Amino acid sequence: MQKKIKEIIKIINENDNFLIVGHVGADGDSIGSVTALTRLLQKENKKARAYLNRDTLAPFSFLEVKEEFFYTDSEKLKNEIKADDFILITLDSGTLERIDLDPGFIESAQAIINIDHHEDNSCFGKVNLVQPDRAAVGEIIYNFAVEFLGDNIPLTIAEPLATAIITDTGALRYENTSSRVLRILADLMDFGVNIYKINKKIFGSLSYKALVLKGLALATLNRSKDGKIAWLYVSREMMHEAETDYTEGLVSLARDIENVEIGILFTEEEKKEIKVSLRSNFYAEVNKLAAEFDGGGHPRAAGATVTKTLAETIDSVVEAAKKYV
Ligand code: 5GP
Ligand code: MN
Ligand code: MN
Repeated sequence: MQKKIKEIIKIINENDNFLIVGHVGADGDSIGSVTALTRLLQKENKKARAYLNRDTLAPFSFLEVKEEFFYTDSEKLKNEIKADDFILITLDSGTLERIDLDPGFIESAQAIINIDHHEDNSCFGKVNLVQPDRAAVGEIIYNFAVEFLGDNIPLTIAEPLATAIITDTGALRYENTSSRVLRILADLMDFGVNIYKINKKIFGSLSYKALVLKGLALATLNRSKDGKIAWLYVSREMMHEAETDYTEGLVSLARDIENVEIGILFTEEEKKEIKVSLRSNFYAEVNKLAAEFDGGGHPRAAGATVTKTLAETIDSVVEAAKKYV
């Protein structure tokens, strides 16, 4: 690993133009680690730009990501960057398909550096720094921040790193919360990060509309006969009624039930495009379950998109899940 970190540092030192991207439907780890790395490279006087999906930025607006480096419009980005040779750095993305840019544009990159913590990462980069034992990509980027800045990490970098780690550990409640994570967060607090503020923003500032949607989703709660699998769903009509499509955190309602091993949320993105979010508590490897539906992820948190109706998807995923409990 140390060799790969050195290799990446060498590439950073020897090049000037970078495009840093996260995955579709960016979560706090994607947004936080992309923000931190982009700011770190800019601090090193590099031309670093980031690309993230606009819609997903809203809950993380406290990070004050600036439009000028967050090209949320991929056409604008292509026009802007096409004249330059650039190194593409992908974060928190297990496959190239998880990146919301067209393949032709991705191929125009001089090289791809793939930094991730998904154990099923397909290692599509020229350099692949894949560390499944890291709770968040933010934890990996923290090491780069220390390499470049020592103990001089500004709050503009420390705060998004803490956000990434807090998101992917569920505010330090998930199994991936290691002593190393706690030490890193303690260091980040010493750099001025306010953990209470971040927790409040991410987990304690639900919009009224999102709570209405949560109520509608809760009314769909169901479970298997043995009580080990619980699921709920969000249909297009429910999103229409609640006037929001914010489903963050809903899957935990199913997972956090006594005796449940697998919790599932089905979200109807389109009539025949269902996003499946999978979570487990102790032993079920839901990344394997997700892989049965061409998805992936971590053993305790995974997902897939299924092109069937909501009812068909619920039937087939719940049936498949029974093998894992
Ligand atoms: P979420 O349910 O929060 O969208 O995703 C949970 C985990 O599963 C994340 O680690 C995410 O990267 C992974 N994941 C979610 N959807 C997909 C998918 O369609 N394909 C792959 N490969 N991974 C996914
Ligand atoms: Mn992620
Ligand atoms: Mn992550």
